Amino acid sequence: MAESSRKGFAHVPERISGLVDLAYNLWWSWNPAVKMVFKQLNPIAWSESVHNPVRMLHELPEETLIAASKNSLYLRHYDIVMSRFRHELETRDSWFAARTSFDRNLTIAYFSAEYGLQHSLPFYAGGLGFLAGDHLKESSDLGLPLVAVGFMYSEGYLHQHIGADGWQENIRELLNRDAAPIKRVMYNHDNQLVAKIPFIDPPIYVAVWRVDVGNIPLILLDTDIKENDPSNRLISYRLYTGDNELRLRQEIVLGIGGSYVLDVLGIRPSIVHLNEGHPAFALLERIREQVAEKVSFEEASKRVRDTTLFTTHTPVPAGHDKFPHVLMDKYFNHYYPLLGIDRSTFLQMGHSPTDQQGLFNMTAFALKMSAFRNGVSKKHGEVARAMWRPLWPDLPEDKVPITHITNGVHVPTWLDPKMELLLNQYFSPSCPRWLDHHDSPLIWEMISEVPDEELWLVHAQLKRKLVNRIREFKRRKWVGEGADPVNVITGGSLLDPSALTIGFARRFSTYKRADLIFYDIERLRKIVNNRWKPVQFVFAGKAHPADDEGKRLIQKVYKYAHQQDFGGRIAFVEDYGEQMAQYLVHGVDIWLNNPVPPMEACGTSGMKASLNGVLHMSIPDGWWIEGYNGTNGWSFGNNFSGNPQDRDRHDAMQLYDLLEHEVVPLYYTVSDDGLPHMWVKKMKEAIRTTAHQFSSRRMLKDYVRMGYGPALEAAALYPKK
Ligand SMILES: *Cc1c(COP(=O)(O)O)cnc(C)c1O
Repeated sequence: MAESSRKGFAHVPERISGLVDLAYNLWWSWNPAVKMVFKQLNPIAWSESVHNPVRMLHELPEETLIAASKNSLYLRHYDIVMSRFRHELETRDSWFAARTSFDRNLTIAYFSAEYGLQHSLPFYAGGLGFLAGDHLKESSDLGLPLVAVGFMYSEGYLHQHIGADGWQENIRELLNRDAAPIKRVMYNHDNQLVAKIPFIDPPIYVAVWRVDVGNIPLILLDTDIKENDPSNRLISYRLYTGDNELRLRQEIVLGIGGSYVLDVLGIRPSIVHLNEGHPAFALLERIREQVAEKVSFEEASKRVRDTTLFTTHTPVPAGHDKFPHVLMDKYFNHYYPLLGIDRSTFLQMGHSPTDQQGLFNMTAFALKMSAFRNGVSKKHGEVARAMWRPLWPDLPEDKVPITHITNGVHVPTWLDPKMELLLNQYFSPSCPRWLDHHDSPLIWEMISEVPDEELWLVHAQLKRKLVNRIREFKRRKWVGEGADPVNVITGGSLLDPSALTIGFARRFSTYKRADLIFYDIERLRKIVNNRWKPVQFVFAGKAHPADDEGKRLIQKVYKYAHQQDFGGRIAFVEDYGEQMAQYLVHGVDIWLNNPVPPMEACGTSGMKASLNGVLHMSIPDGWWIEGYNGTNGWSFGNNFSGNPQDRDRHDAMQLYDLLEHEVVPLYYTVSDDGLPHMWVKKMKEAIRTTAHQFSSRRMLKDYVRMGYGPALEAAALYPKK
């Protein structure tokens, strides 16, 4: 794959020109020592670039770079990092290589509509994206032969501003492609590769970009190009449009376009993994390619099914795309004959007995056409089996062929670097490369060797960093944009780094119940305003632009943040994204999670928090059913058996009880040495029991063992193109 010669870096001296390669590979982002080679060039410029080395290198004056290229201390660090980088890219002795017996070129193609990798790439809306991003990083660490496909969104998801009335506003901001770590894929020296989506009428063109995630290439499709008419340019403009036809066209581009582009690039996937139903049309294109080579439809679809994995992510009904047959006809009338089938067989593939007639259901289609299907936690596996049982009417529910692999998070990305340094001090004498074995429970037993005061000190630093960061953000808004003082206060400028701090940050979907804690305002007020044991809440998150219910929830939280008698102890932080997530999951004391069960298929933000000793306080749903052991955090909202409309009351009462009788007293019980030893004990228990199990390393190994392995074996039986 030829890539663009990157213009704009002529001022980087030859001696340190490797910085440009490093900047264009996100590998730097999960290696703190590597981050430092950028930061050391100029810490202020690093901060002003919002930790985006491509932008920073563009902007740094030549003198700074020349000085660095002559500084022997800097060069020593640079050389070490570059040699690690080259080794990382060249290494062949990975975990995957060591365990696999396959001796030929294998490729796993991974398709997802969103990727959460780093904040300079706004290609995500929430958890699904971060799961995909962490999947790629971990695949690189384990040496999986994976190629990923996604979208180059011009505008990303949305940039959130909260108006004076608490209503979410969207600030439009286009991605500056020249300042982002993305590269054009070229087809000759001067021209970016542009492909026409096969057999789809009216025609759609995509330009091809690439992001390097360690060893994993992520191929991005871009329709916002001059070859397309204005309506087609919109296809990759932003994530998840509310317009059903535009959405269908997005999914055509992702699935069919994505498969076709891989083919043009000479990449022939042995197996395909569909992350959620959005990219499922990829299966059609795989079948079509084989039918074009005279394989029958039946045989081609069997081969495709045997070599496809599908992960479903949500029990929320609106999370499953369905397209009316009239729309399917409009786009596929030239396409389905190429599969060697008639219209009704074609539409039948997307039929689900759970729908009314006349809809093509992407999840049903993906479930029927994949050999390996999974939900994303043990509980979600059960929920998915019950939900999709109508597709297998002859089987009892527990035999419905959908299993589960519980999600995990990429430890090097989500473990705070200061916390990592601390653990390193106590782990590395017994196991110098402990981070390479972080999915082993034994490693984390060593947490007991970390002295309480040191763990507490690091935690307190991270909390101060969070509070400072939030205040500084508001201060700048006030100074720079003349933000309203009330907005400055609701945004968190009165937060107190010594108060018990509870974080609630995630997408504002109704089922996540961001307003649960406000069920009984008087009771909450007493908890928050306890003179000697104050409690503060930090909220953050975006509502889908078409979701007015979600926006009303934000408005409600914002209204309480406004109220003088909460004393600025309830804050709503605008524009939640990867960077604020890092501050929050490292820096609060408690991570609150209160969805309506069983709607949270898994949840991952609580895993990021627990890994850093931030205690998870959650409804028993998603991963927490597997994660909670009675002492590593808290569970509330248990044993509910009334009418659904009474659920909020029940859960809120348990939450208040827990805070009043257990959590707040525990936090404020300090020994003579000034430390809350019982709290720190719980922090250690959280780290010890969750870090390994809810890592993306454990998750990826599960995918290889249960899904990729068998599918690769099946692929070996079929002729390879
Ligand atoms: C991890 C993460 C999420 C996912 O949160 P859930 O707990 O799954 O809702 C969403 N947004 C950001 C920015 C994240 O880092």
